[in-house]
Amino acid sequence: MTEIPEDIGKAWHLNKATCPECGTIVDGASKALGDGEGAPEPGALAICAYCYAVNQYVEGENDDLQLASFDMNELELEQRKEIQALRIWLASRPHPE
Ligand SMILES: [Zn+2]
Repeated sequence: MTEIPEDIGKAWHLNKATCPECGTIVDGASKALGDGEGAPEPGALAICAYCYAVNQYVEGENDDLQLASFDMNELELEQRKEIQALRIWLASRPHPE
């Protein structure tokens, strides 16, 4: 069972990235897994709070961050398990407006 980190609430503002799965404009992010402050950066993964799709941050056209679809098969089994536990946890929380 993956433990959900206590500092999951650390929030970051994004400059309007769009979820490629559901089309929701995402303007915030919270750290979930990994070392450091958890600031969103190219290559980092993101779970959409609206549809729970696993996306990856990529550099946008104007030095901003955008979201691209990510293939979970690129990850090791242990990483997939961690992300899946986070998705289940996220889905158990109140859905954002
Ligand atoms: Zn989405």
